[in-house]
Amino acid sequence: MNAKVWLIGAGPGDPELLTLKAVRALAEAEVVLIDDLVNPQILAHCPQARVVAVGKRGGCRSTPQAFIQRLMLRYARQGRCVARLKGGDPCIFGRGGEEAAWLQTHGIETELVNGITAGLAGATQCGISLTLRGVSRGVTLVTAHTQDDSPLNWQALAQGGITLVVYMGVSKLEEVRQGLLAGGLAADTPVAMIENASLPQQREQRSTLVQLCEDAARFKLSSPAILVIGEVAARRERRCDDSTCPAIAG
Ligand code: SAH
Repeated sequence: MNAKVWLIGAGPGDPELLTLKAVRALAEAEVVLIDDLVNPQILAHCPQARVVAVGKRGGCRSTPQAFIQRLMLRYARQGRCVARLKGGDPCIFGRGGEEAAWLQTHGIETELVNGITAGLAGATQCGISLTLRGVSRGVTLVTAHTQDDSPLNWQALAQGGITLVVYMGVSKLEEVRQGLLAGGLAADTPVAMIENASLPQQREQRSTLVQLCEDAARFKLSSPAILVIGEVAARRERRCDDSTCPAIAG
């Protein structure tokens, strides 16, 4: 019996942003549970597996978390190798840690596999360096959406000199704007909104904190999207295929 559950980060969408370890785990899997933010093209790595869709998108009809966990447990107890594919990284707003702990308390061997989280991918795809010497000395990943709707500590988040990456913020733009302004962040702080990062339909819109809601409405920002907030969000770092890059042009 090779019963095991792999909790795999499928990355932000581009199938080429998958890790080699994820590909190896998928090749071993007999059952694959796939979340709805995962690009189905990734299933090309597990043609042998039975695939179960377990979408759990906020606000939509979804498969309850407890059901998904019991499903993983049932397949594992049948002696099967199970892969649970989650968008981005399983441990960034993905419950990977919780699921691993729960499976382990039920005696199931579990392994977490990193994925590239959407915030990092989105920024890089748009030429935004989340940390930048002399501009941003750190980065905070934060969700605008909490289960109990408890407020964020906006004052702590509003300190300058670091970059904020906001997940699940599309329906909370006004709250983000107000909270950060009240916390002391400058009204003209740059913001980048990045939708469908790394996918062919990726879109981006640059704005400022004070203009965030109006610009998002005009742009028709929709989920999944991340916000990058901070001085780096006004920049677009050059790629090395730029003809002005001396290493290439020279
Ligand atoms: N574990 C995931 C995050 C899941 S929470 C990760 O590490 O990326 C879901 C949120 O992630 C979405 O509301 C959105 O804010 C963000 N997200 C996921 N995929 C995205 C994508 N391709 N582009 C932009 N944002 C994305």
